[in-house]
Amino acid sequence: MARNDTMMQYFEWYLPSDSTLWNKLTKDVKHLENIGISYIWLPPAYKGAGGKDDVGYGVYDLYDLGEFDQKGSIPTKYGTKEEYLTAIKALKENNIKVITDIVLNHKMGADETEDVLAVQDDATDRNVSLTDAKLIRVWTKYVFPGRGNTYSDFKWNWTHFHGVDWDENSGRAAIYKFYGKHWDEDVDKENGNFDYLMGADIDLNNYDVVNELKKWGKWYLDTTNADGFRLDAVKHIRAEFFPEWIEELQKNSDRELYTVGEYWSTNIDVLNNYIQKTNGCMKLFDVPLHYNFYRASRSNGEYDMSKIFEDTLVGNNPWMAVTFVDNHDTEPEQGLESWILDWFKPLAYALILLRKDGLPCVFYGDYYGIPSKEISDKKSILDTLLNVRKFYAYGEQYDYFNDLNIIGFTRLR
Ligand code: CA
Repeated sequence: MARNDTMMQYFEWYLPSDSTLWNKLTKDVKHLENIGISYIWLPPAYKGAGGKDDVGYGVYDLYDLGEFDQKGSIPTKYGTKEEYLTAIKALKENNIKVITDIVLNHKMGADETEDVLAVQDDATDRNVSLTDAKLIRVWTKYVFPGRGNTYSDFKWNWTHFHGVDWDENSGRAAIYKFYGKHWDEDVDKENGNFDYLMGADIDLNNYDVVNELKKWGKWYLDTTNADGFRLDAVKHIRAEFFPEWIEELQKNSDRELYTVGEYWSTNIDVLNNYIQKTNGCMKLFDVPLHYNFYRASRSNGEYDMSKIFEDTLVGNNPWMAVTFVDNHDTEPEQGLESWILDWFKPLAYALILLRKDGLPCVFYGDYYGIPSKEISDKKSILDTLLNVRKFYAYGEQYDYFNDLNIIGFTRLR
């Protein structure tokens, strides 16, 4: 009988910048296989603007997987390209599928500036421009002096982006949209239009950009042998882009690619709408469930536990849900901080690991702890729950969700 699948997110925000994660992972593979991990989500593996300190979301060069002397070092925060490929090989040899973090919304750490006409948009309503077009100086030229033309001779300039948040001339931060460009309409409606998130926002309507990103995707899959993607910031990217990109890569791959998107919204209708618009080409993280856990853990006993799955993706559209308790963004002092308190962690994990629906994702920071924030590991209780998931959490499920404080469910093998 097929075993239950389980994902692990194999990083947390505050890992030391010592370039050792890939090697650590290679040594950990047997153990991960043993506890029932069948999918592993790895952090963005390409060189970020912050070099060895970059968690990976400040993408500088998608083709530099820790191979070129750029941004102050050859390795990334997690190691060298060779160490990365060694870890992936070991994972695959132990039947663990490799899900890689893909950041295509923005770039950071350009090599040179250029002068461009831009208007300043209202940060809280990006459909409204506050100024006429004026000349600003922007960091949008990417020439990759450390890599040159290896793998790709594509050089980025302002025409490949929608806008930026910094004018080098005035030294002012604001939402600057390049003259003649428009934010994509098919994005989240927060702030009027949430196309712009950070850095230099990639123009995914630009034919050359789309072609280059397809070419890169094929190179990346061929190079790494990855099994799929965790797509970053999809609510800031026009909904039509990824179905086309994934289809193109799937055509060129002998593996069935698994894809999960990060659409950070607690609104189940927004998530279902996005799934529909993207033709179900990606699963989504169950953000509403995370916030239900968050509230339950911090409500001093006032939370109605019978409603824990209400308006969640796993409750509503279970096949499309990747369930999780916390992640690198919800950690203390992070942008989406919504950390679930320790006492509730075992309950939350039981509610994702022992039920039939959703693909549950165990967070590295929960399993191994977050030493820099003095958060202890939950390895012992998680090993117990993972063991129960691996051997016993099968068959029909009967729910007893009829009390404010005490809920239960059974599984029949
Ligand atoms: Ca965008």
